[in-house]
Amino acid sequence: MNIEKIKKLITLYIILTFITCLPYWFKFDYLSNHLNPSPSIIKPIIKTLLVGVFSSSIITLLLISLKKYRIFIIIPLIIFWIFTTYILITFGSFDLSLLASIMDTTPSESSGYISSISIPRLLFFVIPYSYILFRLKSNLKFKYLKRFLLSLAFICYIPFILNGTLSIFNQYKYLGTMSTPRQILEKINKTNIIDLALKFDELLSLKKEENQKITPQWTNVVKGKNTLKFNYIVIVGESAPRKDFSYYNGENLTKYVGWKFISNAVSPATNTRESIPRILSVNSYKNIDENLNIIDLANQAGITTYWFSNQGFLGKYDTPISKLGKRAKYHIFHNKGSYESAESDNRLFIDLSNALKKQRSGNLVFLHTIGSHPPFCKRSQFYEKHIKNFNATNEKSCYKDAIYNTEIYINKINSIMSKTANPYKIIYFSDHGLSDVKYSPYKVHGVGKAFSLDAIHIPLIFINSESKEPGKLVKKTYFMRDFVHTFSDWMEIDANQIDHNKSIYSKNINQNKYIYEGSELIKLGK
Ligand SMILES: [Zn+2]
Repeated sequence: MNIEKIKKLITLYIILTFITCLPYWFKFDYLSNHLNPSPSIIKPIIKTLLVGVFSSSIITLLLISLKKYRIFIIIPLIIFWIFTTYILITFGSFDLSLLASIMDTTPSESSGYISSISIPRLLFFVIPYSYILFRLKSNLKFKYLKRFLLSLAFICYIPFILNGTLSIFNQYKYLGTMSTPRQILEKINKTNIIDLALKFDELLSLKKEENQKITPQWTNVVKGKNTLKFNYIVIVGESAPRKDFSYYNGENLTKYVGWKFISNAVSPATNTRESIPRILSVNSYKNIDENLNIIDLANQAGITTYWFSNQGFLGKYDTPISKLGKRAKYHIFHNKGSYESAESDNRLFIDLSNALKKQRSGNLVFLHTIGSHPPFCKRSQFYEKHIKNFNATNEKSCYKDAIYNTEIYINKINSIMSKTANPYKIIYFSDHGLSDVKYSPYKVHGVGKAFSLDAIHIPLIFINSESKEPGKLVKKTYFMRDFVHTFSDWMEIDANQIDHNKSIYSKNINQNKYIYEGSELIKLGK
């Protein structure tokens, strides 16, 4: 046995472990500087070390055993390492849109990402990886060392796999509480080859879902004599519990001339993916009929439709919505990634103003905002005005600030519209609320155990430029699941498939009282 060679091998093994861990450290460093309060770091450190030890053991083993085919292992490994390290540092994770753009054949989509790749930084990783792997020229046959590495890798492998498996099963619950620091760190620990494979799989199924065509099936669509005289704005809010709006907190509403505040609107579900498609399409408990969506209803009535989104575009949670948004004649999706990369909702003002320049009336504009989606302090950085005693590092303070700014946002849209000198109508609602919890960010999606009524009690506001009535609270319970029928009355568009008894304007509203939660039905009263 050659002691020198063992020493060399062990040194390389340690360096290899360190390098495997490196990208994760970048993320920890970033997170501990950006999250408040700083999360406990011990668990993720252990997990990272396990992943590192596991990967380097496997690689060292392969290099020892398969001397002859070493080059075939080394090259793909180098490519994989460079790829993952680079993505982790630059984008934070195996972002779906990034994978999509790599798979995409359209060069314009990919060029955005490719142009953002920094060559010096890339070389910084290529050189050490290549050097270490090519230096590993041993042809040792150490039985004990092999066994040791294999057992080590195996021991590390168990929790690693377990973590991955559990997270698949918990994916649903995971969504709701993903914004707590601990869970973000746990998510990062999943950023490995298994996660990458899962993401590719998810992407393929999303592409399939996206490609299922929508064929409008509205029949006998008739518009009213005033339909084309108005402009219509639908502001789709995000994660905004009703109880925290000033409108629902005893504020004097009379100053809001032409505004109506619905006292008890209930969202179809506790998360965007389950909620928005139901708000936009005719649906039953089991089925959402995308062929009967309100955008196509308006299209068929001769309205010019627009969908401007500051939400995610591609992903398990975004694709069902962007697919509907794309039914609009004109659509802009500002955010190619997920909600995590969203910027200011104010960018939609410009889209709205541009749309109104094209045609004076007869426009229907959807503004899909990121609103008060947690983590809240991420939103605050985009606001120009803040609440009194605002604290930019306190999630509770940032949340209040987000709701305050949502109110400013609605006012701003109203003032943009009032300057057009054309009659207009605005609807604002949130896709769902949030539940109160005891840990940061103190408000989470009401998914699974976190379900509460606050997660489905949403604000619903109607503004009509032609109404001179003082603002008031309308005492009504309305399930937004049937919004299609309200929308039809609001726009004075009729079709065979519309049930006016499910409209909020009906004197005898007849709705089934239930919502969805994790694909399950929750009955609310009789
Ligand atoms: Zn949402």
